[in-house]
Amino acid sequence: MVHKMMWIYIINIVAYINRLLSKMLPTPNRLPQSRSDARRYITSLHGLDYKKIHACVNDCILFRGDYENVEVCPKCGEARFRKDVSGLHIPRKVLLMYILIYILINYVIRLVH
Ligand SMILES: [Zn+2]
Repeated sequence: MVHKMMWIYIINIVAYINRLLSKMLPTPNRLPQSRSDARRYITSLHGLDYKKIHACVNDCILFRGDYENVEVCPKCGEARFRKDVSGLHIPRKVLLMYILIYILINYVIRLVH
């Protein structure tokens, strides 16, 4: 279940991006531009799941991409995992990245590069 403030952020981000994209596209176009249109669009998506990404305890890096299989932070040397009483490796810090935001961030990064 998505926290109410997160929900409002997502709706505002989608509405903002749609307004920006709408100005770049030929008119008329079918992008929803108002917050209520954005909310209707988002609720049509099936579930707002999230992805867990391990992070350095000192916030140096995210263990993804080139660091996907690294067990020690290359910047500060802190361990990625701790062992629990049964010996299982538990990530010391986990970032919950909502999938929709993850998609939007990757989309914006691709636009910039
Ligand atoms: Zn670090």
